[in-house]
Amino acid sequence: MTEEIQVTIIGAGVIGCAIAAEISRDFNGEILVIEKNDRITGENQSSRNSGVIHAGIYYPMDFGPLKSSLCVKGNSMLYDFCKRHGVPHKKTGKLVLATNNLEEEYLADVMRIAKENGVPGARLIDIREIKKLEPNVDALSALYVPTSGIIEPTLFVKKLHGIAEEQGVIFLTGNKLTEIKPDNNGKFFIKIRSRSSEEVFKTKFLINCAGLFSDEIAKMIDPLSPYEIDPVKGESAKFYCRKRENIIVKGTNIYPVPFGYYPDGERADVPFNRFVELFRQHKVIKSVGAHLTPVFDLKEGRYETGTTITIGPAYSKPQNKEDYAPTRNAGYFHKMVKPFFPNLRIEDITLHQTGIRAKLKGYYDFIIEKSRMHPHAINLIGIDSPGLTSSLAIAEYVNKMLKDL
Ligand SMILES: Cc1cc2nc3c(=O)[nH]c(=O)nc-3n(C[C@H](O)[C@H](O)[C@H](O)COP(=O)(O)OP(=O)(O)OC[C@H]3O[C@@H](n4cnc5c(N)ncnc54)[C@H](O)[C@@H]3O)c2cc1C
Repeated sequence: MTEEIQVTIIGAGVIGCAIAAEISRDFNGEILVIEKNDRITGENQSSRNSGVIHAGIYYPMDFGPLKSSLCVKGNSMLYDFCKRHGVPHKKTGKLVLATNNLEEEYLADVMRIAKENGVPGARLIDIREIKKLEPNVDALSALYVPTSGIIEPTLFVKKLHGIAEEQGVIFLTGNKLTEIKPDNNGKFFIKIRSRSSEEVFKTKFLINCAGLFSDEIAKMIDPLSPYEIDPVKGESAKFYCRKRENIIVKGTNIYPVPFGYYPDGERADVPFNRFVELFRQHKVIKSVGAHLTPVFDLKEGRYETGTTITIGPAYSKPQNKEDYAPTRNAGYFHKMVKPFFPNLRIEDITLHQTGIRAKLKGYYDFIIEKSRMHPHAINLIGIDSPGLTSSLAIAEYVNKMLKDL
């Protein structure tokens, strides 16, 4: 007889691991996580991101109710978790900068969203206050957001993985899910393949957290699933800010104002009203833009900030969902940050890493829903930024859905 598992989670990125850790706290029954990569961290979104703990200032409630609510909730849950479990993190605060009048139009909208989403402490500041926080930054004005921060994302995922394992979850790494066949009782036959074998088992509940491949998994469950991931490559670079006094970053997250970006990665320099039209027609994506973010360096066994600053992401279209090849050079990153960080030189910059975002075609919000055809399956599709920040709140949300099934 085929073995039966209670819950099968597909994908051991931050979302799969967070859900595994959450549901295994009080769930009676076997929970299995299937991961195609050999290791939990590495080539997925959760290991190749900016490591920013977002505050919730970018996501309009009417257009992205899940992104806005789960980000704000996830932000405080993440700080609590990191403190309790010793995951390297820092509440750095964030500056969102406007360098000209057009950018100030966009900044006003960020302030509106911050208020609407109840982001604590967000306020507009002038150049004098900006210079007090970060003397090497140039701008007309900024939004200061005290609840933004940074985290070491791979250590966070490893901690979630460890907690889930301690609570009895079984992780099958190096196993790719290749087929799902719903049976007549609302359960599923699952086929997985490793390098050496193929196996079939039965599961009662299925949770699809396959990141870039979540659309393909959703179609295995229901061929009529409408969702399609349109991957976006995000490259980053870095510099050492202690190299010269005039490129020191004191520790704040430094962001340009969010703008629309066309699919080729070019910024849509249009008035704010025109941007709103393009955004709602899904002709541009709204992006936080290339920012300066302090990251953790491992020094003598301790994680510290204050030396390495990343720049990015710079967006482009990848060849496929696993195309991590860099396409941007130091000059490109230099051009992106020069308007607000003028003393950086091209020769200060080296390339850092490439990630690929699971951007959902034609949708803005996270999709977290039961499969329309097979309600014992929960799909999480298009969990791009702020998925890392929202992960613990997403896990809590999915646990409630599971209990109601
Ligand atoms: C460049 C970049 C910058 C970002 N910056 C931030 C940020 O600063 N702050 C923030 O909050 N968010 C950020 N994000 C978003 C965040 O990283 C993601 O939302 C989050 O990591 C998504 O996690 P996930 O578990 O859904 O997906 P993933 O991490 O991609 O994990 C999905 C897993 O599923 C596995 N899988 C897929 N198909 C199968 C299969 N058939 N069988 C078995 N396993 C399978 C994959 O191997 C993968 O490990 C960024 C993303 C990118 C790319």
